[in-house]
Amino acid sequence: MSTAIFPNLVAGEWVSGHGALININPSDTDEVVGEYACATAAQVREAAAAARSAGAAWAQAAPGVRSDLLRRIADEIERRCGELALLLSREEGKALRDASSEVTRAAEIFRYYSGEVFRMAGERSPSLRTGVTIEVLYEPIGVVGLITPWNFPVVIPAWKIAPALAYGNAVLFKPSELVPASAWALADIIDRAGCPKGLFSLLMGDGSVGRAIVDVVDAVSFTGSVATGTAVAQIAASRMIPAQCELGGKNPLVIAADADLDVAVDCAIQGSFMQAGQRCTASSRLIVDVERVADFTQALVARMEKLVIGAAISPGTDIGPVIDERQLAKDLSYIELAETEGARLLTGGGRLNRATPGHFLSPALFGDTSNQMRVNREEIFGPVACIIPVRGYDEALAVANDTDFGLSASIVTSSLKHAQHFKANVRSGLAMVNLPTAGVEFHVPLSGLKSSSYGPPEMGHHAMRFYTKARTAYTFAA
Ligand code: NAD
Repeated sequence: MSTAIFPNLVAGEWVSGHGALININPSDTDEVVGEYACATAAQVREAAAAARSAGAAWAQAAPGVRSDLLRRIADEIERRCGELALLLSREEGKALRDASSEVTRAAEIFRYYSGEVFRMAGERSPSLRTGVTIEVLYEPIGVVGLITPWNFPVVIPAWKIAPALAYGNAVLFKPSELVPASAWALADIIDRAGCPKGLFSLLMGDGSVGRAIVDVVDAVSFTGSVATGTAVAQIAASRMIPAQCELGGKNPLVIAADADLDVAVDCAIQGSFMQAGQRCTASSRLIVDVERVADFTQALVARMEKLVIGAAISPGTDIGPVIDERQLAKDLSYIELAETEGARLLTGGGRLNRATPGHFLSPALFGDTSNQMRVNREEIFGPVACIIPVRGYDEALAVANDTDFGLSASIVTSSLKHAQHFKANVRSGLAMVNLPTAGVEFHVPLSGLKSSSYGPPEMGHHAMRFYTKARTAYTFAA
């Protein structure tokens, strides 16, 4: 058992806080991964003051200086990839190969944004008036609060920290209390890479730390649940600061009558069950044409029954445990609810025993469900998917759109006409054709519709809209 408490990085110093988060391995609940200090309210204010002064210098730094820091962070993440992936896998329960891809992706994101610094050069625009020139100038927004969830402990922080620093801002970073170890390692890398003192602070702790951050920053970027995101956006609005919130999903995967069976099954396996369904972009509603329900169900059940569920760090594992006892109880309660609502359990849905005590759950597939059932309306965030039979493409699209969420949606079809129509008419920020609902790339926008998102998109150069303020200068040269 570990005894040292990992400190927070506040105003350029590693400092202890009050109490500690005890980080447990979900694949082996006897193992404490580490203990991590909780930041105090005073430390949040101290970090904000330091960020304000370090940020002023950073905003003036030559783009090359900012670019170099981001590149050094990318290099260091790459160098420590194996160690970071193992830590991530141990604390979150993500299968090791998925953890490795996540860490690699984080390095790529820092490298991508090391080039983005040059986009701040601004633009010239023609004027309506003769002799007048117009320049659009982009300035950093100031001190940004970055609040992240537990399900991508390295890559989500990366896709917020990298653009924040690239576009000249200072950062207060609050990771989820369930995954402080990966966040701590990332902060260590950023500090060792030569980040100016005070420019980046790590403030671990529960929601109260996040709440305190929203009170002191110039903008907040949040990823997490709709409930928390709504609270964050309300406080941000009351302070008149910008908020960017990426929230939950109840994503449909449509299997059309003309779908390729292998692609359809692959999309369902990847989208619904990998990472134990703990992805905002997971496909929980499988909207299947009645003509394909029988062959699709049979093939999917066969594939599901071959999945290896076990300790996340075991090389052969496809799916690790769910994050904690609370999530496991939530998943099991929805499985029970689905049965009460009249859904038919086709496979899985039970707690599993493995060599170590962990939160293992066999992925659950339900048949005979309707889109009105609660199990098809509320985000579960676990390895639970429901087949909703439909007749024809029009009904499939209508059911796909009949949800409060709008993050990702996919169709498996060999009809170009339906693919094009779906992309244009499905009400979600991400539209996929013959691909799983999950699996986004970092150089293009990530943003949802309806209650899945609030504010400007993340990722790509589109992130600049959130992390900068545009000013306009008009000059008349007589
Ligand atoms: P959560 O809302 O419980 O917590 C997210 C973060 O907010 C944590 O760091 C938490 O400590 C903090 N927080 C809690 N209360 C707060 C408050 N009052 N003020 C400020 N911060 C507060 O979410 P979670 O359980 O960590 O993550 C799962 C959710 O995240 C799911 O709904 C999932 O769909 C969503 N998610 C969305 C995306 C996306 O890009 N759209 C990506 C990943 C996860």
